[in-house]
Amino acid sequence: MRCHTHRDVDAVGVCRSCGKGVCGDCAADLGRGLACAGRCEEDVRRLVELADRSAQQLERSQALVGNAASLYRSLAWFLVVVGLVFLGWSFTLEAAAGFVRVVGVVLLLFGLVVRWAAGRMAEAAPQTGA
Ligand SMILES: [Zn+2]
Ligand SMILES: [Zn+2]
Repeated sequence: MRCHTHRDVDAVGVCRSCGKGVCGDCAADLGRGLACAGRCEEDVRRLVELADRSAQQLERSQALVGNAASLYRSLAWFLVVVGLVFLGWSFTLEAAAGFVRVVGVVLLLFGLVVRWAAGRMAEAAPQTGA
């Protein structure tokens, strides 16, 4: 590819804003991309900023989902434990045993469902190290 200003000079890269080839003299290296010096510099700077910001937002939302997933996981364990307690308790009771046992089973099942949902959430949120 040739520089779009200097047709006889090889381009060192492509402007990130207009997509045209730029030679060493025409290119402004903004660290994260090349721009036509003086013409597209401001545009490319804004593009890079925008990309940075959306990447940060993505990271933040992924971290949020990850937090929610671990919260759900704790809730699931809590439900399972309480469900087991209710089940164990029901065996020491006489009259209300049936009701307490049902409550225990419901809590257990609910805990398993929440645990499953937490697993799905964790899958949706790639590991962010948190
Ligand atoms: Zn340009
Ligand atoms: Zn040039």
